[in-house]
Amino acid sequence: MSECIFCRIASHALPAKIVEEDDEFMAFHDAHPVAPVHILVIPKHHVDSLAQWSAIDPARAGRMLIKVRDLAANLGVAESGYRLVVNTGHEGGQTVSHLHVHLLAGRLLLWPPG
Ligand code: AMP
Ligand code: ZN
Repeated sequence: MSECIFCRIASHALPAKIVEEDDEFMAFHDAHPVAPVHILVIPKHHVDSLAQWSAIDPARAGRMLIKVRDLAANLGVAESGYRLVVNTGHEGGQTVSHLHVHLLAGRLLLWPPG
């Protein structure tokens, strides 16, 4: 069995509060939310990080972005606004080595991030 926790969530071996999923992607609530809306969107197929972009094809990357856009609309935050974050590598703050997009919304998000 994969040691990667997001692969385990993607295969339903580890429980998560799943928002939606299809053949390619899964969206689930972050276990430690930092905003009223804090969803993670992952490709089900393992990719380490955005730096491993060559491992996923551009069409799939595009579908992932559209998926997050539609999810934000379905959650009713498209009008109020939201932020997408893809922490990448050590200095980017990535702690789980499986590509994921944070969808953050529901409060005023400050800039710059810490
Ligand atoms: P990052 O720091 O960008 O790698 O983000 C990883 C995120 O995964 C963090 O916000 C964690 O709270 C979240 N996380 C870690 N383990 C789990 C889990 N089992 N279920 C849901 N979210 C998780
Ligand atoms: Zn994985």
